[in-house]
Amino acid sequence: MIDETHDPGRTSWVEYANGHNAFPIQNLPHGVFSQNGGAPRGGIAIGYKIFDISAALEAGLFSGAALEAAQSASGRSLNAWMECGAGARRALRRRVGELLDSKGTDAGQLQGIAKQLLHDAADCTMHLPARVGDFTDFFAGIHHARTAGTISRPENPLMPNYKYVPVAYHSRASSVRPSGGTVRRPNGQRKPPEQASPDFGPCRDLDYELELGVWVGPGNELGTPIPIAEASSHTAGFCLLNDWSARDVQSWESQPLGPFLAKSLSTFVSPWIITTDALAPFRMAQPPRPAGDPAPLPHLNDPADQATGCFNIDFEVLLLTPKMRSAGTAPHVMSRSKASDLYWTVAQMVAHHTSNGCNLQAGDLFGSGTVSGTEPGSAGCLLEMTRGGRNPVTLSNGETRTWLQDGDEVIFLGQARRSGYLSIGFGECRGTVTEALKLT
Ligand code: CA
Repeated sequence: MIDETHDPGRTSWVEYANGHNAFPIQNLPHGVFSQNGGAPRGGIAIGYKIFDISAALEAGLFSGAALEAAQSASGRSLNAWMECGAGARRALRRRVGELLDSKGTDAGQLQGIAKQLLHDAADCTMHLPARVGDFTDFFAGIHHARTAGTISRPENPLMPNYKYVPVAYHSRASSVRPSGGTVRRPNGQRKPPEQASPDFGPCRDLDYELELGVWVGPGNELGTPIPIAEASSHTAGFCLLNDWSARDVQSWESQPLGPFLAKSLSTFVSPWIITTDALAPFRMAQPPRPAGDPAPLPHLNDPADQATGCFNIDFEVLLLTPKMRSAGTAPHVMSRSKASDLYWTVAQMVAHHTSNGCNLQAGDLFGSGTVSGTEPGSAGCLLEMTRGGRNPVTLSNGETRTWLQDGDEVIFLGQARRSGYLSIGFGECRGTVTEALKLT
């Protein structure tokens, strides 16, 4: 639903929010922050500032449905805000937009208490925005699926189920972390083809996967599927997600039950939840399936979803090596891809996930699967870029990479665009690889 919160002409009285590429007043993403070692609490990004929802509650700035949603969004995790439903979340978004609007009726009074309401984001620490009950990782990037399949099964890259089933596996919730930290290179079982038996040691083929993350809103009762037409009211928002992957561990351990320790080492998410409401103007038609592909089965096929279930989001992957960091050079652009490179919509993922009656819960997290395009420079992971480690990538400073090295920092960016609307961004999802634990 498009309303005044998406008006591209709306400006904020918050300094430097206007023209901010990620967090202008049209975005208003939710997150959890802390200051000076204090208790984590809910906030909303506006420009370079964080709007403190607890302080706004103390100042009595909310009433009705917006008050209920603000209370649920003020604590150390946003599960209750996700649970409270689309109507209350939208009421809060409209009220915060009105409070921060430079032409808002309360703008003068609010500027007087701006010190309590707004904090410099640079002085705050961001936290995981919710307690993740379950984390499901899909495989909806068809170009990734085909290229990855070609590397291991050249004769049959896409399995016969791919165009019928939004393939996924249950990944690990406990190791999901917010952007900005380090990921330790895991130790694991490795068995390169030339080795007769496996050994245990530091992963040699460490990779990232660029994915769109989905935060689930209100869940469903066990035994009661979510029809596809209702699926979008069960998503609270979106983030960038890095599914760190230990490829050598993965190729040995995955048969026949799928990924396990190669993926559970950790998953990073960008800390701001870009709400489903904020992304409303950026909805677009799901690109038509190529001629000859089967139509989705009826429970995954909704005309409204096909017309508006995709999002116009551009992604970028950057790599900053230790050499670049010490030389002060800009990170290397590894790839650019877009959400329309996904074969399945988010609504199809929700409908499929619950089609057997499985219950989703507020705060569950989905990964879309690696988002890769077909053009050169659009592969969302090193596995594809290097064709399974065979062709090293040359970086802008002349270094090469086959897989990630210790000290490498991977940075994801996302930007939603549509002509006639102000572009909004996701902020960053970044993480740095550190050396493996020494084996004794
Ligand atoms: Ca993945």
